[in-house]
Amino acid sequence: MIFDLHCHSTVSDGKLTPQQLLERAVERGVDVLALTDHDTTDGIPLVQKAIADNKLDIRLINGVEISTCWENKDIHIVGLHFDREHPAMIDYLTKQSEIREARAKEIARRLEKTGLVTDVYDGAKRIAGEGQIGRGHIARYLIEQGVVKDNATAFKKYLARTKVGYVPSPWPDMKSAIDVIQQSGGLAVLAHPMGYKLSGKWLRKLTVAFKAAGGDGLEAAGCQLAPPHRQHLASLAQEYELLASAGSDFHFPSSWIELGRNLYFAKGVTPIWQRWPEYAQPQEASAH
Ligand code: AMP
Ligand code: MN
Ligand code: MN
Ligand code: MN
Repeated sequence: MIFDLHCHSTVSDGKLTPQQLLERAVERGVDVLALTDHDTTDGIPLVQKAIADNKLDIRLINGVEISTCWENKDIHIVGLHFDREHPAMIDYLTKQSEIREARAKEIARRLEKTGLVTDVYDGAKRIAGEGQIGRGHIARYLIEQGVVKDNATAFKKYLARTKVGYVPSPWPDMKSAIDVIQQSGGLAVLAHPMGYKLSGKWLRKLTVAFKAAGGDGLEAAGCQLAPPHRQHLASLAQEYELLASAGSDFHFPSSWIELGRNLYFAKGVTPIWQRWPEYAQPQEASAH
């Protein structure tokens, strides 16, 4: 069984619609998918409808990727298998959208102050369409306006932490995200732990803080993770008694990230789906 429990659609900063994303997941042999758009679950009913209408052989788990702040850094918490209609979750994500809107306006103000570009908020909003606005849309606007040549440069020069368009993390703390996920019946996962470019010491500190805040699991498999990194994440998961999740963090078709690709764990972890009776599989026999 292939589980891909982290990906994005046009409902946040992905480039495929929820329906296109679903088709691609089916083509790539994904058996269980979680759509985890940034701070919104609005894409989920669209995927559910497409599965039902086309009688597709794939299962969907409710997902979301919540933006949080820890030690002045943006840390992402993936929520899985929760009730998306739980009032606490609805309230929380409504607040997150408001923060996103306010942050986008502040990023726009900072970028416009450089004199390099105008109408940033309206431009990014147009690109985001009905989706949740994010830095990815601002990056696309900067490309469209000829300010930068590509997405990586947009982040590196203007949008990443410490750059002129970066707004200090406006997000709530990790514990509030973990709490709302669990309150609505789900499990909370530390997203892409290697993605924060932390030293070994800081990654451990983050894992400790996540565990202390009540977190359930960490992503220990991604498309591009090198084997030593998978091993390190598996060790952290074991040491701190965290479950292991797997996700591509797919945003758009490219040659390096693909739905369902390479989502294997290093030995010794407990997959998060063992906690969901409908997906639990017999555990591999221990080597000794
Ligand atoms: P936001 O949630 O609006 O703060 O945007 C975060 C998203 O921006 C991530 O999920 C990525 O899709 C993208 N992103 C963040 N950092 C980079 C980077 N250095 N290069 C390219 N994309 C990035
Ligand atoms: Mn993203
Ligand atoms: Mn993320
Ligand atoms: Mn993501």
